[in-house]
Amino acid sequence: MYLRAEYGYPPQAMSKAPQPKPYILGIHAYVPGKSTAGDGTVLTKLSANENPLGTSAAALDALERARGEAATYPDPDARRLRERIADLHQLDADRIVCGTGSDELLNLAVQGFAGVGDEVLFSRHSFAVYDIAARRCGAQPVVAPDTDFTANVDALLGAVTPRTRTVFLANPNNPTGTWIAPEEVERLHQGLPSDTLLVLDEAYGEYLDPAFQRVGFDLAARYENVLVTRTFSKIYGLAAERIGWATGAPGLIDVLNRIRGPFNVTASGQEAAIAALGDDAFVTNSRVHNAAERDRFVAAIDALGNHGLVCVPSEANFVLVRFTGDVTAEAGLSAVAQAGYAVRHLPSQGLPDALRITIGKSEDMDRVVQALRTVCGEAL
Ligand SMILES: *Cc1c(COP(=O)(O)O)cnc(C)c1O
Repeated sequence: MYLRAEYGYPPQAMSKAPQPKPYILGIHAYVPGKSTAGDGTVLTKLSANENPLGTSAAALDALERARGEAATYPDPDARRLRERIADLHQLDADRIVCGTGSDELLNLAVQGFAGVGDEVLFSRHSFAVYDIAARRCGAQPVVAPDTDFTANVDALLGAVTPRTRTVFLANPNNPTGTWIAPEEVERLHQGLPSDTLLVLDEAYGEYLDPAFQRVGFDLAARYENVLVTRTFSKIYGLAAERIGWATGAPGLIDVLNRIRGPFNVTASGQEAAIAALGDDAFVTNSRVHNAAERDRFVAAIDALGNHGLVCVPSEANFVLVRFTGDVTAEAGLSAVAQAGYAVRHLPSQGLPDALRITIGKSEDMDRVVQALRTVCGEAL
């Protein structure tokens, strides 16, 4: 190569920039939740579904201790972390793989099974990463219509073709917050061919009533085509550390292990996650805080129903508020920004008339409600 460059050969090829695969150019890069206003003012983020209670003190201590270990590679198999996850959820550690956030695992769940000519299926108004995960492998994203911002199992099953390789269901769903019951998840699985992978993305699973938290695990334990993903980014308050995990049949875990990054979870992340798993009280407090504040927020927004504000029923740590009357979502967005808060407006996901608002601390929710009351002309 060096000699060829020296002699200017081959001239045309040298002047041409690397050409991306055409399907890569079809990707719209993921847009993260904002933390500043248009003029650069720093806002309190209620735009990325982060835990308003922060992080368990035990996890923060573990992070602090791990700082001294920066020169050595982490455990490539995250063995102790997988064992702790298995203990907590009564799973088999050999059927667990950890990832750089669950985001890595969602991408691998496509890459391992789909490529050019294949289809990846998900519901309208679901997680933006699914479209990217499909396209980066050259697979065709296929979107099934939803009903009332909720995944419709019949519509999903109706969109399955012999080319469908991976089906994603976020349950509870982001950005709508809606949820389908265990029987519906089972019906979706029952209707899929056994060689189609069903990925149950349970990033918000821990916010559900504990009685409903096992449906994914039970399917993943019984069938070869079900992968459940979970994350430490939401209720565990460790989004900065980028730790996710998945459980499924040995054949699925083997595929993900072949193609994941070899040291994909940092040493500090592994230690922090292990400590976080041991702090039940933090997780329970987070769930209880979220449920109480979400109820209070929904009641306050429902009281603005005469101005067209409508909450989509949420089982997650955020609420999608629709603006169906004279007050627009844009007006709501700038009113809450003026009060110092960033929330999510998602016109690019087909939700121009809605704002996704993360449930924050009580006082923050009060100020957001006050801003929305003001923009509706109900300040006092
Ligand atoms: C936040 C979120 C994730 C988690 O992403 P990480 O990469 O684990 O931080 C996964 N799925 C959905 C639906 C989410 O909203």
